[in-house]
Amino acid sequence: MIQLIRGFKDILPGDIELWQQIEKIAVELFEDFGFKQIRIPIMERTELFKRSIGEDTDIVEKEMYTFADRKGDMITLRPEATASIVRAYIQHKMFAADPVQKLYMIGPMFRRERPQKGRYRQFYQIDAEIFGVASPLVDVQLIFLLTTLFSRLKVADARAHINSLGCPKCRPGFKTALREMLMSVSDRLCSDCIRRRDRNPLRVLDCKVPACREALVDAPSILDHLCAECKEDFAEVQQSLDRLNVPYVIDKRLVRGLDYYARTTFEIQTGSLGAQSAVAGGGRYDGLVKELGGPEMPATGFAIGFDRLAEICGLNSADLQRTPHLFVAALGAQSQAMAFEWICSLGLAGIRAEMDFSGRSLKSQMKRANRLGASHVLILGENELEQGTAILRNMQTKEQTTVGLDHVVENIKQVIFA
Ligand code: ATP
Ligand code: MG
Repeated sequence: MIQLIRGFKDILPGDIELWQQIEKIAVELFEDFGFKQIRIPIMERTELFKRSIGEDTDIVEKEMYTFADRKGDMITLRPEATASIVRAYIQHKMFAADPVQKLYMIGPMFRRERPQKGRYRQFYQIDAEIFGVASPLVDVQLIFLLTTLFSRLKVADARAHINSLGCPKCRPGFKTALREMLMSVSDRLCSDCIRRRDRNPLRVLDCKVPACREALVDAPSILDHLCAECKEDFAEVQQSLDRLNVPYVIDKRLVRGLDYYARTTFEIQTGSLGAQSAVAGGGRYDGLVKELGGPEMPATGFAIGFDRLAEICGLNSADLQRTPHLFVAALGAQSQAMAFEWICSLGLAGIRAEMDFSGRSLKSQMKRANRLGASHVLILGENELEQGTAILRNMQTKEQTTVGLDHVVENIKQVIFA
């Protein structure tokens, strides 16, 4: 038997209902806030991700599924959505009609990481981006959207962590201070962090190795290095989160390694996921549109890990399961033929109806109706056909009603939706 690839998974009926509900609630929320859906390809030129995510990130260094296609072009299965959405924004000159574009997408991402709970090689993200607005108020709006979504999904114990990454004016000063500090604790850092120290010191701050985290408790805070504009910007973020009653914690360790990230950065974390505590991450990336060949354009966005969200979602999955409204227990060839026409009409009328196609006994058909969780059974034998009526049995109350076979769909509808 051929099994699926390690780190990949199937999402089967029984679980999918929860995924569908989460997606429905997310889509409704985004649309209510004026976001439009965008669908981007699963694959892009490798170059796009290298340039936008950055050569010395975990993703580009070791997680991408990259291969040469038959002509030798290097292509990569998308590890995230922002790069493609920015590419689409530029390629289709979406900024020409209106620089302000609010976009969202939901779909699979691919990263070749070590599979474990909450970490897969194909996973799903819900992603939103806002182009063309420099005001920190839209960062707040994104955080507000996230916390609203999480509360609609009854996620307990989710909290927004926020930080500012400064701007190209004030960040270099912080980097220098940080690098100096890292030099003094070099003997306690992992080999990855030694390399990051020299190439991209910000990234040392989000190393997950416990010894590194300990070595960094006294690391300088970027918040002490912000220029006046960035300070004001970050203060405005906090004030408007307060006004919207969105709880948050300031987390000076929250960083993104790339130069085009600026100012507000945020994450939604939860205690209920164990080691994989981040359910969503995002922030402002004002330099990226230009970096990828577009105009100078502010932008901000987030990505939610769908799989982790499904894990901590408080909606009751049992309530979301859809069982048949009706099982037609037809006895005899003539009854079966009629039942078949009816279940087709019932389906059109929004009544989920099932039947047996193999001429089994009434007893075994009733058993199957029970197993499917049908709320009603319509019993149709030769006698009933002759009399022009059938028996409709409520499987919960065991109550039986006689329904006329003329206009049977209407009659059934009336009883079932009474
Ligand atoms: P992590 O720190 O867990 O590796 P990340 O910083 O790589 O996360 P992002 O690139 O910010 O994650 O992606 C946004 C969200 O996507 C994460 O917060 C997480 O919920 C989810 N995510 C990332 N990688 C995976 C994965 N391999 N499997 C499942 N979900 C993932
Ligand atoms: Mg990761």
